[in-house]
Amino acid sequence: NLTIAVLTVGDELLNGEMADTNTTAIARILGGEGYRLSESLTVGDVETDIAAALCALAARRDVVIVTGGLGPTGDDLTARAAARAFGRRLVLNDEALGQIRAFFAARNEAMDPRNEKQALLPQKAAILANDRGTAPGFVLSQEKTEFFFLPGVPDEMTAILRESVLGALHRFSGGVPPRRERVLKVFGLSEVQTEERLEQVLPPGVELAFGVDFPLVHVKLRACGEEAENLLDRGELAARRALDDFIVAAGETTLAQNVARLLENTGLTLSLAESCTGGLIAKLLTDVPGSSSFFERGAVTYSNQAKQQWLGVSRKLLEEEGAVSEACALAMARGVRRAAATDLALAVTGIAGPAGGTADKPVGTVFVALVAAGYEQVQRFGFAGDRSQIRLMTACTALEWIRR
Ligand code: ATP
Ligand code: MG
Repeated sequence: NLTIAVLTVGDELLNGEMADTNTTAIARILGGEGYRLSESLTVGDVETDIAAALCALAARRDVVIVTGGLGPTGDDLTARAAARAFGRRLVLNDEALGQIRAFFAARNEAMDPRNEKQALLPQKAAILANDRGTAPGFVLSQEKTEFFFLPGVPDEMTAILRESVLGALHRFSGGVPPRRERVLKVFGLSEVQTEERLEQVLPPGVELAFGVDFPLVHVKLRACGEEAENLLDRGELAARRALDDFIVAAGETTLAQNVARLLENTGLTLSLAESCTGGLIAKLLTDVPGSSSFFERGAVTYSNQAKQQWLGVSRKLLEEEGAVSEACALAMARGVRRAAATDLALAVTGIAGPAGGTADKPVGTVFVALVAAGYEQVQRFGFAGDRSQIRLMTACTALEWIRR
């Protein structure tokens, strides 16, 4: 079995400026193809540290994927560190230089002489094409270890990983049956509740694992070997039966994408009035390309005054029932629907905390209202968690209401 390590390079990953998403992205992409990472390591922009890490990994891993530090600036030291670690000279790589020149030519831009530095690579480096950026990736074979050097920029990195690295991994692992995985996204059940429902329903050979992307629980079905796809088809069917309506999305698809697709397909238009979510529901929906076909507007009405002025909620209602109430949620939804003339309107109002809770309306109290022609629905929820969790629960609950 291949042992694979990831080495990420960059001061920004160690000083709290930036989270290392490259390792996660690599683990996901490789995981989808049946490979597991054995370890990951991060070092700063220090040539000797990078070189030491490369030497250490060469001694214990079959494949090492390195990201970052291939750029033209003075802090990009990975190629030099690799040359130092493996006792190779840095040479001007013609293929790399050609690729960098072509990148600028295609954009009608002049090339800064500093970009030539990016073509200075250790001897015997083989180039990996990068049509999205200037930094070419490269491969080095060092004794028994294969090193892939990729740019740090996440979308350049993942493009080269998919286009060039995966194929090479498949060749090295020659014939080892890949592990296949399917993901079902569950909303409204905890991990434990989800597991309970799946006990004894999956066919033998289908392995079960869980992940959490709050507030969603990800159910991962895995299988190996020639029959993997077949087993997963059966496993997925069984899991869908057991989890039923709690499955809100699958694979790479998100809940918001499913809601968007549904609205597009039915031709229904939507407006929103958001209080405690501060525009989060609108954000999630407008993240989906093409959302303008159904999404008309969203009002973030945080104050009582905004609820009155923009949505026509009456002062009397606000005084008697309060802004966090069934009546207010309904009035908000009616108000935005009237103004936007949409088929559907959804409103949320609640207390995300940490302050603002009372005995009869504690933190986490949220009202969701959905109105359409001849249809009105409103419900009170009591969500647990911190401010951001309550806001996410509210947004997902709202999306889920539209989906149903
Ligand atoms: P460039 O040509 O842009 O300099 P590079 O290969 O030198 O590419 P870095 O300079 O290390 O890459 O990183 C470029 C940018 O990519 C960083 O500013 C950061 O935004 C992002 N990045 C680098 N490494 C990671 C990582 N491990 N996780 C997430 N983002 C990263
Ligand atoms: Mg850089």
